[in-house]
Amino acid sequence: MSAKIIDGKKIAEQTRGKLKAEAEAFVKKYKRQPGLAVVLVGEDPASKVYVGNKVAGCEQVGIKSFAHYLAVDVTQVKLIELIDKLNRDKAVDGILVQLPLPKHIDERTVLARLDPKKDVDCFSVSNAGALLLGEPCLAACTPAGCIELIKSTGVSMSGLNAVVIGRSNIVGKPMAMLLLQENCTVTICHSRTKDLAKVTKQADILVAAIGKKEFVTGDMVKSGAIVIDVGINRHEGKLYGDVNFGEVSKVAGYITPVPGGVGPMTITMLLANTLKAARA
Ligand code: NDP
Repeated sequence: MSAKIIDGKKIAEQTRGKLKAEAEAFVKKYKRQPGLAVVLVGEDPASKVYVGNKVAGCEQVGIKSFAHYLAVDVTQVKLIELIDKLNRDKAVDGILVQLPLPKHIDERTVLARLDPKKDVDCFSVSNAGALLLGEPCLAACTPAGCIELIKSTGVSMSGLNAVVIGRSNIVGKPMAMLLLQENCTVTICHSRTKDLAKVTKQADILVAAIGKKEFVTGDMVKSGAIVIDVGINRHEGKLYGDVNFGEVSKVAGYITPVPGGVGPMTITMLLANTLKAARA
């Protein structure tokens, strides 16, 4: 069989159209724009591109962005002072601290300082805990985007076997929690999983968040499965996912491409979270 492509770029554009309308309605009601503060420490080129894309995304849907660029040697105290100020600022509904931070700054301490109501990236212990307990909270952007992509297939998730490869705090674990909320039977795999292919072959929904180029091959996938490829791997100037697209697209029912799958949805969900935080 040949898998249907889940077009993340198109779905992200459609979602941004809806968000724009929601932002306009917000402005009418509250007489101000929803606001997102983006904090970047240092000069990392990839982080600069990500921050630029986030600021551009805000502009596209009518969210006011407040970009804060700090020197690579800024102290943790100064960074926390800025977070405290943004926590108090009524024009700021969401705060995003671009990771990774330089080594002299403790990421956990900084993230813990964010007002959970403004933690639109959802990396703080408080939001991760709320997600685990199934309490209302903002959901981590990449996994939330994956759920939207799965929903776009029209396939009901309830009761399906979902397998997540990867157990990171930013992708694998929150992904598993969101799939559980959708009533999937969820298995999380990682580098110590024995006979990985035997587990992944059971998956009606397979999410790959490993960080290894074309790791998931055709023989690891159940016929007709929905395959979501979170991986972004740069190799000789080209982007590759964690899934061998050529092989897996012959077996799966639905598949996300890289680029043009999960990536465009991540920033879109950040914008959605900012609007949600503004309305809360
Ligand atoms: P991490 O490196 O934090 O986690 C990778 C996970 O993969 C770990 O849990 C690891 O297991 C597991 N793993 C590694 N090797 C194997 C193996 N041989 N078999 C099974 N599991 C394995 O990565 P992230 O979760 O941060 O990111 C994953 C990928 O997603 C990356 O390519 C990243 O660039 C991409 N990404 C994409 C985003 C997007 O917007 N599209 C956003 C965020 C990430 P263990 O825990 O045992 O080490």
